[in-house]
Amino acid sequence: MIVLKKPSKEVFCQSCGGILNRQEEFGTEADRKRSEDYCSYCYQRSEFVQKNITLEQMTKKAAGFIFLRENIPRDDAQKKAADLIPKLKRWKTY
Ligand SMILES: [Zn+2]
Repeated sequence: MIVLKKPSKEVFCQSCGGILNRQEEFGTEADRKRSEDYCSYCYQRSEFVQKNITLEQMTKKAAGFIFLRENIPRDDAQKKAADLIPKLKRWKTY
């Protein structure tokens, strides 16, 4: 049985809210360093993969991930996403 070591602190992608556990899951900067904030699905070579996605669309997407990941009712997943995504660095507006 494989026991996954729980990271000391959870790092969320600051665009989609996905949990980042492994180095390979982080996106890349133009100089090929790993991004510290975004996952590889959202961010490649210092650019967002989906540049024009709206907060609303991302919240919907994130709800789908949370639904699968946490195995909770869809409504709860949607609420979680609606709570989480607007607080992330990419979407935060001051
Ligand atoms: Zn992401």
